[in-house]
Amino acid sequence: MQQNQFIVAQSPKLRHKKNSYFSRMKKISHSKILDIINLTDSTYIVRLEKNNFEFKAGQYLVLNIPGENMAREYSIYSEENAPYIDLLIKEVTDGKLSKELKYIKIGTKVEISGPFGFFILRDRELNQSNHYTFVATGTGISPFHSMVLSNPGLNCEVIHGIKHNGETYESADYPTGCYKACTSKDHGANFFGRVTQYLKVGEIRKDSLYYICGNSGMVGEVSGYLELQGVPPENIRTEVFF
Ligand SMILES: Cc1cc2nc3c(=O)[nH]c(=O)nc-3n(C[C@H](O)[C@H](O)[C@H](O)COP(=O)(O)OP(=O)(O)OC[C@H]3O[C@@H](n4cnc5c(N)ncnc54)[C@H](O)[C@@H]3O)c2cc1C
Repeated sequence: MQQNQFIVAQSPKLRHKKNSYFSRMKKISHSKILDIINLTDSTYIVRLEKNNFEFKAGQYLVLNIPGENMAREYSIYSEENAPYIDLLIKEVTDGKLSKELKYIKIGTKVEISGPFGFFILRDRELNQSNHYTFVATGTGISPFHSMVLSNPGLNCEVIHGIKHNGETYESADYPTGCYKACTSKDHGANFFGRVTQYLKVGEIRKDSLYYICGNSGMVGEVSGYLELQGVPPENIRTEVFF
């Protein structure tokens, strides 16, 4: 009764704001940790039970350990039809959840909600055999791994900015010639330097659809450069992790 009175007393504007907030929320479900797969000293895959969770490649979910109030967003790394959900996670120095998940006991149930986000391949464009350029730094490669595995035959180039040669994660999963590692510390990969430098020495395809994912500095720099080179802004899509 008290609560109803409160709602009636709200201004229509506030009520609308509150309702639209709740309509965007998704149900939280519980999912068991099936495995933790270490790819490097600091990057690992969390494999989760899929249950009835459906998503489009490129979307993310929100994960929380029950009772810990540490919900964080994670892009989905596995393909749409895989019987599990994989997340590719970097253990952040001074981080909270990314540190705790690395050592979580297999079988623990975590809370997940989603899927969220519009960083996806658009059906209409997929039907037109377009060329895609995916630009990522670090675990920003996660949505592209899902997109490529979920859409066999995708005409794409994946440009991955990493520090060391050992951080190419599962690069053999991409079609031959599609994956290019740009390393900023080690020599010996496809390109020595940052992804922005790689783009600057090559020719920019103006007919490609560009998807950029990673830290905000790189995303801003790359999208700004592409626009300067004449790529239409509507053909540049971005996802910022931090
Ligand atoms: C839409 C979206 C999708 C995301 N997908 C992924 C993903 O697929 N894989 C993944 O590892 N992370 C992803 N993140 C980042 C993730 O949500 C967390 O921020 C990250 O795991 C750190 O959480 P934490 O609790 O350990 O650290 P926190 O205590 O939350 O943060 C500590 C500090 O680390 C910074 N930080 C966050 N991520 C990184 C990073 N990768 N490298 C360096 N510093 C960082 C934060 O800005 C903060 O300053 C995503 C974020 C968003 C918004």
